[in-house]
Amino acid sequence: IWNELVAIYRDSLTAPSFNAWIEQATPISLINNDLTIEVPSALHKEYWEKNLSTKIVETGFKLTGSEITPIFTIKNDIIEDISAQPKMEPIISDITKENSKKALLNPKYTFDTFVIGKGNQMAHAAALVVADDPGSTYNPLFFYGGVGLGKTHLMHAIGHQMLINNPNAKVKYVSSETFANDFINSIQNRTSESFRQEYRNVDLLLVDDIQFFADKEGTQEEFFHTFNSLYNDGRQIVLTSDRLPNEIPKLQERLVSRFAWGLSVDITPPDLETRIAILRKKANAEHLEIPDDTLSYIAGQIDSNIRELEGALVRVQAFATMKNEDITTSLAADSLKTLRSVGANNQLSILSIQEKVCEYYHIQLKDLKGKKRVKTIVLPRQIAMYLSRELTDNSLPKIGAEFGGKDHTTVIHSHEKIQQLLETDTSIQKEINDIKNGLSN
Ligand code: ADP
Ligand code: MG
Repeated sequence: IWNELVAIYRDSLTAPSFNAWIEQATPISLINNDLTIEVPSALHKEYWEKNLSTKIVETGFKLTGSEITPIFTIKNDIIEDISAQPKMEPIISDITKENSKKALLNPKYTFDTFVIGKGNQMAHAAALVVADDPGSTYNPLFFYGGVGLGKTHLMHAIGHQMLINNPNAKVKYVSSETFANDFINSIQNRTSESFRQEYRNVDLLLVDDIQFFADKEGTQEEFFHTFNSLYNDGRQIVLTSDRLPNEIPKLQERLVSRFAWGLSVDITPPDLETRIAILRKKANAEHLEIPDDTLSYIAGQIDSNIRELEGALVRVQAFATMKNEDITTSLAADSLKTLRSVGANNQLSILSIQEKVCEYYHIQLKDLKGKKRVKTIVLPRQIAMYLSRELTDNSLPKIGAEFGGKDHTTVIHSHEKIQQLLETDTSIQKEINDIKNGLSN
């Protein structure tokens, strides 16, 4: 029976799944139609029971004419090596999912998908503690570190975990810019009361990238009160920034000192091993077959930013699909090289686009990169972001950074906005064409 089963699974599962689940299981005995199978962990047992056992019953019946009952035992002398184990999607209740969505959490940013390495293990450990025991340990919890290193991911993971532990918890995730906008709107629309309700009646408030509170006096004032209210009620606050609170220009002293009440942890760039582990995890999740030396190669090429590391993997994958070849190191080298030479050939930098746009609209570079929201500046800014995305290979975070440290979502938003305008607005079409022509001269 076992051999027959293995053959069936080999045909029906992808290679990584087969290796992960079937190869690691051992048949022990078949007594009175009870087929005992030994598996290495509780996770395996759960997976077999949920996904693989009907095949056993079917096949067993076909071969023996009687009903075989699979029984799974866990081999107890194996200590689970978490990093080597395939993780199963956690079984998450519908309420939790619904509430995660309401909290605006990215479903991919969970503890399960987070790879622990030297640069982030402290942050990860602190995140776990806070998720399981919110409000009473590290409050606020403050993550700081460079772009694309997993701050937002960890923050969302705390939110997800808290909702898994308690589906009725109120979790709210915002960027500091959303907080600022909500606040400003609440003043304009005279809805301060509902703004306060919204932000002060939560069990967990996640505010991302608070370096953008710099210069926003009124917003800081309001955040100070929000913070106090939550803190005094024992609600958990988690914050991120690209630097330590006392290094954020124009951040009020009283906020800086309050942020220091909790725990600040930095996240530093991943070492090579961690980068390989991250790539391996992504590859497994996408069921990509990539040899180890190829993963090492890719991880060796991109050494600072995890978002770019993911981008490289996507590029290699796309290249392989396009050429209809397996992913190998030489294919990876080719696809990453093409990328670089395109960048080198077309020479166009974000700065040159910005300068051209400023010249065209008669505005100043510092306004283009700044935060002013007047229409005469917002539109050129969006156009410059659009062109930077269309005409250069720079990553979204990089483009955001070149525009005075804006979030990559702002870049995406601007790009979409202009794309929409271009469909109908003939004067925008002409303006963008003029700028493009100016650039190619
Ligand atoms: P930051 O907020 O620090 O700029 P993000 O949290 O947005 O960075 O992370 C960038 C990308 O890298 C995301 O897609 C995230 O899922 C991924 N990532 C970051 N750290 C890890 C990690 N330790 N394991 C797996 N993926 C990670
Ligand atoms: Mg972030």
